[in-house]
Amino acid sequence: MTTYFYTPPDRVHGDRLTLPPDEALHAFRVVRRRTGDEIVVVDGAGGWYRVVIDGIDAHQVAGRIVERREEVGEPAFRLRVGMALLKQEKRFSHFLEKATELGVSEVIPLVTARTEKQSIRPARVEHVLQAAMKQCLRSRVVSTAEPRSLVECLSGVGAELLLVCHEASDAASDALLDVIARAGTPPALTVLVGPEGGFTDDEVARLTAAGARAVSLGERRLRAETAAIAVCAGIMLHYQRHIPSTP
Ligand code: SAH
Repeated sequence: MTTYFYTPPDRVHGDRLTLPPDEALHAFRVVRRRTGDEIVVVDGAGGWYRVVIDGIDAHQVAGRIVERREEVGEPAFRLRVGMALLKQEKRFSHFLEKATELGVSEVIPLVTARTEKQSIRPARVEHVLQAAMKQCLRSRVVSTAEPRSLVECLSGVGAELLLVCHEASDAASDALLDVIARAGTPPALTVLVGPEGGFTDDEVARLTAAGARAVSLGERRLRAETAAIAVCAGIMLHYQRHIPSTP
């Protein structure tokens, strides 16, 4: 099984790189890499490197880059998800992990009228996103921002398709897969998912007035994180058939 290691871009110099201490410890103690071994390293910014180790102990790993590539594992289609913060941080983290695996480009944590929790620990988010990137063989870490309000989130959306998952929308006429099939291939797409208590009617009215299209994920009322995972899977699988991905 391929194991990816992470290093930030500023540890890459010419044809050499080093790993940060926690990754070095993991490489040395857990997966027992030694001098002369080859490893794959990603930098979270689209850089992918095949590296031959020429110095390793429990504190540091240094090596020579023998092959470099860009955007390995990255989808050609950009999906942004505005995801309401959830009461339990572990449910939100679970979504971040699954969003990474499904190829989401950006997750914007949202504070909405019914959001009960207003913050999430940035170190925890970074850890989950980085681990998920390595596990699913991506080279870019999902980008995130500080929690934003719906208004702030909308101001960052351009002329792209904007969808809002809403359980009260019509499971037949507003079905997600039909809506995106009719929309062709927009350059990017943003989808919004509400918190445990859902979006208020007022929020849905304002979003649709701002050009958002309400979509249904079926007859059942899904938990917020299930809805978010389902909508990401549906969208990414749809566009994967229409836009070939990068090598
Ligand atoms: N308002 C509801 C449940 C909200 S479910 C209540 O408390 O009874 C949480 C979020 O998941 C919603 O805001 C919506 O974005 C999404 N969601 C859940 N089920 C959905 C479905 N069948 N179709 C579309 N979105 C759904």
